[in-house]
Amino acid sequence: MKNNKQIKLVIFDWAGTTVDYGCFAPLEVFIKIFQEKGINITYGEAREPMGLSKIDHIEAILKNSRITDLWKKKYNREWNKNDISDLYFNFEKKLFEILENYTTPISGIIPLAKKLRDNNIKIGSTTGYTRKMLDIVIDGAKKKGYSPDIFVTPTETSVGRPYPYMIYENMSLFNIKDPNLVVKIGDTISDIKEGINAGVWTIGVIKGSNELGLREDEVNAMDKKILGEKMRKVKEKMILAGAHMVIDDITEVYAAIKIINQKLEEKNPYLLLTPGPLTTTKSVRKAMMKDLCTWDDDYNNLVQDLRKRLLDIAYLNSKKYSVVLIQGSGTFSVEAVIGGSISSEEKLLVIANGAYGNRIGEISNILKHNYKILDFGELGAINLKTIEETIKEEKFTHIAMVHCETTTGRLNPINEVGEIAKKYNLSYIIDAMSSFGGISIDMEKTNCDFLISSSNKCIQGVPGFGFIIGKIEAIIKCKNKAKSLSLDLYSQWKTMNDFNGKWRFTSPTHVVRAFYQALLELENEGGIKEREKRYKENNAILLEGMKKFRL
Ligand SMILES: *Cc1c(COP(=O)(O)O)cnc(C)c1O
Repeated sequence: MKNNKQIKLVIFDWAGTTVDYGCFAPLEVFIKIFQEKGINITYGEAREPMGLSKIDHIEAILKNSRITDLWKKKYNREWNKNDISDLYFNFEKKLFEILENYTTPISGIIPLAKKLRDNNIKIGSTTGYTRKMLDIVIDGAKKKGYSPDIFVTPTETSVGRPYPYMIYENMSLFNIKDPNLVVKIGDTISDIKEGINAGVWTIGVIKGSNELGLREDEVNAMDKKILGEKMRKVKEKMILAGAHMVIDDITEVYAAIKIINQKLEEKNPYLLLTPGPLTTTKSVRKAMMKDLCTWDDDYNNLVQDLRKRLLDIAYLNSKKYSVVLIQGSGTFSVEAVIGGSISSEEKLLVIANGAYGNRIGEISNILKHNYKILDFGELGAINLKTIEETIKEEKFTHIAMVHCETTTGRLNPINEVGEIAKKYNLSYIIDAMSSFGGISIDMEKTNCDFLISSSNKCIQGVPGFGFIIGKIEAIIKCKNKAKSLSLDLYSQWKTMNDFNGKWRFTSPTHVVRAFYQALLELENEGGIKEREKRYKENNAILLEGMKKFRL
């Protein structure tokens, strides 16, 4: 059955979004009216408050501290309400003279408007222009082929942006109750705020925008790298203002609406989810729609192929290494290794610098293992010398460490600790839960016996099982060690190995299918190297954005 929760109304801004590429009409006039008062304002200062109603815009320019100072110097007094009226009177007069020349539809809007109408989506509009100004723009744009269904100006709502009333007026005229079914599209920060305040989906457009402030020919001629950098800055500013999405140009609107419709259909407003925080693709989730039987050959072959692919990702061959899959979340697999590979006569050294490192200690404690935690503190780096000294003082048989300490994001030196493990002949366990699949790990180089990760981290599957990649000789040594029936590493491996991928107890078939699909998608993306690159780029964007929130 078709869900009728779909976008019903798209509200566009005018200048800079649908007409007047680069939003130049009001800009020139703002500069002119201040010039005539003997005050030279910059393009940037004139652009900054764009999107507000024009009278509010003039006041915002005056409130800029540099302009306030210039005014005081020039007139030996503060500016006042009369000055705003004066400036505005002049603004209107000048704007009316030129406005018709700035009504050319931005390329792409005419076919887009047709497409929206063909799909029963209404086209609304809001603006910073007054009714009298907009009437000129409406006429000019209509002659050139663009005309929305309705036009609301601050004249009708008494206050303009960033208040949401013009959007509500649009919704009211179309009798739409639910702001979730409405999209606001604009090119200024006040557009974004208007949309957010109204609680509708809000999209910023970069090319042609006031924020980018470039003519179309300038954009087309500009060096791609320089343009890319300028566009990135605009995008960041719009995202920080609250935009749900920022698109390069108006031609991307329809695709953006399709994405929003998907979200509405799924009743899933999250952009990042499935513990990670990662996102699973629709196709990964779709893979779960098919039932498979635990004992079917089809299913078991899939499991075998999946195990083989995991070895490939770790740059291993199946002569020395094997993969064990364990039901449950990642911790279940950590517990299966800690409980299934260490006996009561042996002793474990846990290297910790965060919650997940300490969790290995907790597991050891409950299992009544002989163990010691070497805790470098939540913000501490691993010190190799301290590790070696500790090993020299006491006799250990095992050493365990987290690779990416997810709680802080720190990457611990798995290869260097591997050298120490080798030197002192320790069995080495790595919790690579949140790094495997997202960061290239040459497992043989680490010298480790067991590496643990799970379905819902960097491979981007859904939660439900964990996996352990282990040296076969180390797995065989686990025989009869486990003190748990279900978390018995050796027995789980033995069954999987002897019965062609069969799990010991009911296996999470849907999750496994989803995981297999996720592995194919990892390969399609270009493997770990490409995924790592994408994660690093995302990381850089995140860091830069977060720095801006720092007080
Ligand atoms: C996610 C994670 C785990 C396992 O957590 P679960 O909630 O059991 O899936 C263990 N170690 C690290 C480093 C992790 O990031």
